[in-house]
This record gives sequence, C-alpha cells and structure tokens, in this order.
Amino acid sequence: MRIRVELEPEELPRQWYNVLADLPFKLDPPLDPETKKTVSPEKLSFIFPAPLIEQEMSDRRFIDIPEEVLKEYAIYRPTPLIRATYLEEYLQTPARIYYKYEGASPTGSHKTNTAIAQAYYNKISGTKTLVTETGAGQWGSALSYAGAKFGLEVKVFMVKVSFEQKPMRKYLMKVFGGSVTPSPSEETPFGREILKKDPDNPGSLGIAIGEALQTVLQRNDAKYALGSVLNHVLLHQTVIGLEIKKQLELIGENPDVIIGCHGGGSNFGGTILPFVPDRLEGKNIRFVAVEPQSCPSLTKGEYRYDFGDTAGLTPLLKMYTLGKDFIPPKIHAGGLRYHGSAPIIAKLVKEGLVEAVSYPQEEIFKWAKLFAKLEGIIPAPESAHAITHAAIEALKAKEVKEEKVIVFNLSGHGLFDLTAYV
Ligand SMILES: *Cc1c(COP(=O)(O)O)cnc(C)c1O
Repeated sequence: MRIRVELEPEELPRQWYNVLADLPFKLDPPLDPETKKTVSPEKLSFIFPAPLIEQEMSDRRFIDIPEEVLKEYAIYRPTPLIRATYLEEYLQTPARIYYKYEGASPTGSHKTNTAIAQAYYNKISGTKTLVTETGAGQWGSALSYAGAKFGLEVKVFMVKVSFEQKPMRKYLMKVFGGSVTPSPSEETPFGREILKKDPDNPGSLGIAIGEALQTVLQRNDAKYALGSVLNHVLLHQTVIGLEIKKQLELIGENPDVIIGCHGGGSNFGGTILPFVPDRLEGKNIRFVAVEPQSCPSLTKGEYRYDFGDTAGLTPLLKMYTLGKDFIPPKIHAGGLRYHGSAPIIAKLVKEGLVEAVSYPQEEIFKWAKLFAKLEGIIPAPESAHAITHAAIEALKAKEVKEEKVIVFNLSGHGLFDLTAYV
C-alpha cells in the first residue's frame, strides 16, 4: 500500500532555517578576486538586491518567510513525503525508505523554492529584469515562472548544446514569458570573444554565468539570480527539510540516514541542514551527498578558493572544486555538471559531518528505470543519484538485518528528460 505523509496547508513552515547560527565553526568568507579580502556588501550590490545580501551574511537562526512568498509556496507546498513501499518490497529490505517529492512544483523541481523568494526580494528592491544562466533548463524555467509571478522580466543564457538538444524546457521558459539566448552568444563581450576563437563552442555553465554577469553589470535596473551554491539559496531550500522534520514526527520516525544528490548543493543542503543541530547534539544521523562519477567535486575535488564561473567574474568561494576550467562530460544529469560546491556543504564535508559518494551514469539509470516502474514516478537524472544511494543503503541494511530509516530527496521529475532514458 502507498503511504503518503501529507501536511495541512497551515503546517507550511513560516521561517527558513539558517544553519550558520548553529555551526561550531566559521565558514571562510567569499573573497574579492582583486583585493583578496572579504568581498564587501557594496560590491555584491551590483549583482544582488540588499535583502539577499543580508541573508547571505546573516547568522540569525530563523528568518521569516514573507507572506507573499508563502502565498506562492502554497500553490504546491507542503509537498508529500512518500514511503517507497514498492521499492522496499522489491529489495526485500527491513529498512523503511521515505522520499520527499519536490517534482510536485510548477516547473518540476525544487528550484522554484528559491526562485520565488529571489523574485520577491528583487521586486521589492526595484529590480526590473532578472538575468541568469541555465544548463538543462530547470533553473531558467523556475526563474521564468517566479518572474511572471512578480512582474519581472527574465532573461536566460542557456548553454548552447542544451538549447539545441533539449528544447522542452526552452518552451517551458517561453510559456512563462522568459527570454532565452543560447550561450556563447553575440550579445556580450565575453560571448563574442569565445565565438571568435571557436564559432562551434557548445557552451558551459561557467561561460553562461559570465555572459549573465556581464549583462547585469551593463544595466542598472537588472540583477543576477543564482540557482544554487550560495548561502541564501540553501537557506530558501530549507523549507524542504523543515517539512520533512514535521512529516517524520507525525508518523513517529527517526531518520538514520538522509540522502540527496549534489550539483551545487542546494537541494541537498535544503534537505539536511534542518537536521544538522540533531547531529551536533549527538543524535546518530548520517548525511550523504551523491554526485556523478564524471563530475566528482566533493569526492575528488580540492578544498580551496576558486571562482564560481569560467570568466572569473564571481567572488572567490572556499569550496571543493575541480577547477573553474573543468569541462564535465555531457552526462544526462545536467544539473550535476558543476565544477564546485556550496561553501556550506564543502565545510560540512571537510569537518566530517557529511559523507560524499559518487556513481557512474549506467548505474543511476538502472535504478531510475526500476524506480519509475515500481513507484510510478519518472525521476530526473539528477534525483536518480539519490535513489541509487538509498537503494544501496537499503541493501546494506538487508545484509545486516537492520531496521534502518532512510530518507532521500527526490529533487525533480524527469518528464522533460525522457530522451535520456531511451
Ligand atoms: C538543478 C537540479 C539539481 C542540482 O542542483 P543542486 O543545487 O545541487 O540541488 C538536482 N536536481 C534537480 C531536479 C535539479 O533541477
């Protein structure tokens, strides 16, 4: 039987959780690449509105979610927590497996949780246009949707190879009124420079971020929006973990292991961060970040300062990185093709609070197809990484006959990624 744990609309969390208030160690600050000193809020104010810069640097434990944002969350939140009984039965495991379903959002992934918040704070700060980049299109479509909600123009630089090969999310962005430009483009100095050297350049996230930032710096009513990595993005995503906490309490379960896929760290952070205080208080709870073997920033990267983009325009972030010029192979999990990681998650890995593992593409698609048939949800290739590790944990529990509680985040559905399946 299907067991769904649903919260009432009024149980939607009213505050986001800021883990920085509780960590027993300090994060290394973002650095200005010119001065090598902590980047100043004034410098960030060229690209982000003041309320988001404040959240980026805040150490307040709870931050109120504005009513206007709650109203938009209420369209699809609280999302269900589902017990994967069909998967459990197939695996013959004594473990109980639960997944949070973020594919229930209007654009099919967790990214709307921060897109709505970022659009709101930009709106009240006087921004007219939001500029961003997107790989496979999840972030671009989430921001286009959020921009439409708050009356902002949205301009998206989409990695050219995805623009050509994955037209569905391009259409999705257009449905919500976003404008989409394949990157590298002729619209920015950085794009023109790359095209001059290599007219067939397929593009990358790093190049698209560079083009988006140059566009923002040329205009004074435009701001930049980032879909992952930064502290304020992880903060907005904690609505996921806060709901999971309430849902598990409702059914009297205590998680032993919490799992999420890791690209820039936002869905993983949003899922686990509200449980970090429990771990710091001595509870036996493990956190596992799952990444592709071909883009292994947490498992194989170096822990050091690096740029977030290829052009070298962003502040330097202390993170696990494969190097800003790393070009990941064209795996289907486009959202996991990022050279770096969220500074918060990187620090938790460094301090031994978070484990990181990686799997090859063949293995994650094997589990993704099985999951689709058993549970009736076609997962995004990114989310399939979390499924894979959850299944491996459940098989381990079977070996040692342990009644473990496994929770993972299903960050999105794969209905726009079907070509990856065939
Ligand atoms: C973008 C995306 C990811 C990866 O980004 P994170 O910031 O690491 O969460 C994972 N899953 C889905 C469905 C995505 O759209």
